[in-house]
Amino acid sequence: ASKRLEGKTIVITGASSGIGRSTAFEFARTAPQNLKLVLTARRVDALRQIAADITKEVGDGVKVLPVQLDVSNPEAVRGFVSGLPEEFRDIDVLVNNAGLVKGVAQAPNIAEEDMDVMFQTNVTGVINMTQAVLAIFKQRPEGGAGDIINVGSIAGRDPYAGGSIYCATKAAVRSFSESLRKELIATRIRVIEIDPGQVETEFSVVRFYGDKSKADAVYAGCEPLTPDDIAEVIVFAASRRQNVVIADTLIFPSHQA
Ligand code: NDP
Repeated sequence: ASKRLEGKTIVITGASSGIGRSTAFEFARTAPQNLKLVLTARRVDALRQIAADITKEVGDGVKVLPVQLDVSNPEAVRGFVSGLPEEFRDIDVLVNNAGLVKGVAQAPNIAEEDMDVMFQTNVTGVINMTQAVLAIFKQRPEGGAGDIINVGSIAGRDPYAGGSIYCATKAAVRSFSESLRKELIATRIRVIEIDPGQVETEFSVVRFYGDKSKADAVYAGCEPLTPDDIAEVIVFAASRRQNVVIADTLIFPSHQA
């Protein structure tokens, strides 16, 4: 499987923590010989540290490029590919992982700012990044080739009270993945949707505006997944034979209903 990743250029959004960070390490560990990783997020210092840690662990067979990118900014996304050094521009895999939930609120009380940030990051960000990378994929023979891997959520399938906007954004991601997969059916471009259940990351700290005690309470009495559990599935999907598409996968801890 690692041979299938060799020579590839992988872009990961939201690579500064949690699932995105683990996915970067998992790709590097799986194909340590000849791989290029473009790690993106807003916290570029964290990306630089991760890049250094990956190189320390696997050596310089993996070229890692940290790039500051806010996926909710359409102009930044438009300039992203052309702004890459040439050796990183021939992208093969995009992992649309950046995403967040802000607040827990019944519909009448949802803050407009929170709603905007969730839609602009989780939905518009995914669509804009996909369009940017599809332009490269489409230049390849047979209608194009490459992988789009979208990180959705159980929330997009099983909405919960107090999370209507987040759930709606993740339902939108899933729907987008499915339409796109059908649009690209005649090509060698794969669209892969991975929907995690509960995973212990910075996700809940962000949800509660940085309140660590509220974030920790979410995981009290349960055993969430680790970000590595999701990273392994993402890399597994990307390293299947070309004709195999892991189109739609739900992964949650065994206790989660
Ligand atoms: P983290 O909060 O640890 O990671 C989220 C990542 O997204 C960070 O690297 C953050 O980086 C990045 N990000 C947020 N906003 C932007 C933006 N505007 N532009 C670029 N990057 C951004 O949480 P997870 O690892 O858990 O989240 C990853 C994905 O998994 C998300 O899409 C989330 O919805 C999904 N998910 C998580 C679950 C969980 O239980 N943890 C369950 C189901 C799905 P930075 O702040 O540096 O920009």
